[in-house]
Amino acid sequence: MRKSVLFPKSGWIFLFLLATAAGLSFTIKSSVPASAPVAAELTTPPTGGPNIPVYYFPGETKRHLLVISGIHGSEAGGVEVAEMFLQRLQKQDAPKPYFSLIVVPVLFPENLASRLRATPGQPDPNRQMPAVGKDHRFEPRDGCYTDAHQRCMEPEVIFLLNLINHYKPERIASIHGHRNTDTSPAGLLDMMSGGGPSITTDPRPGHEKKDDALALAMALYADSLGVRLPANFLRTGRQTTRYPNETAIKASDGVSLGQWGSRPTPSRQAINVVTVETFGYENSGGGRDPWRWRELDALATTLYNVFMKP
Ligand SMILES: [Zn+2]
Repeated sequence: MRKSVLFPKSGWIFLFLLATAAGLSFTIKSSVPASAPVAAELTTPPTGGPNIPVYYFPGETKRHLLVISGIHGSEAGGVEVAEMFLQRLQKQDAPKPYFSLIVVPVLFPENLASRLRATPGQPDPNRQMPAVGKDHRFEPRDGCYTDAHQRCMEPEVIFLLNLINHYKPERIASIHGHRNTDTSPAGLLDMMSGGGPSITTDPRPGHEKKDDALALAMALYADSLGVRLPANFLRTGRQTTRYPNETAIKASDGVSLGQWGSRPTPSRQAINVVTVETFGYENSGGGRDPWRWRELDALATTLYNVFMKP
């Protein structure tokens, strides 16, 4: 029954259905006028919390962008970037964006609280996507939504996929953190095959040039603000906007958000999935590390000034 959900016209009902279809319960944080940013909080049973915050900012157009972080609970720096980005959108004098925006600053709040990459006993959350080219669907035989490896998806992942299939964002910025922070020659060699702090794209087939250009513009802009992105190898012969998917050691088998999102499915067109990998995992500790605060804030500025521009 859960595999076919009809979505009514607007507002809270959307999020309610997207959440309940994923097996999440739903609470409204605050009641706001239709023109204001919409904030919703979703609670995960059976523990009853903590909440998954979801923010919706209506733009000048119905074209959508999605900014998501906290897929990996160990990567707290990325969550801080998403929160800083939110603060810009929430400013009283912030102009209405061109694209309508959905922001999920932390998809797995419980894992973030314990700094866990994945939920104990579950596969890597960024490897729980359906097979490339397929929509997620409920498998009556398994009693759950299954990923490309016939494993049950977690409710948070199903909710993310519901959001994507419903709003059909044209671009996704997925903010992570990368532990490869050794910038010695040996470390840089390791980044070439294993990835590292960078801004990369999983481009849409046929739109590689455009999608690479956006990732490069973001990387150059962030770099100009002092963000460390050694794995982009900017202004060198090895300059790249692609993550070394083929050579990087996989945390677990499965399809990533970038691999799945960048290819069309029956429900939606292909999406330019931009992956932001912060330098290391840490956040600024609420500004206690001012240097780190500035670096993460610069990434939020990059999202605001480059990623969300038409
Ligand atoms: Zn990650």
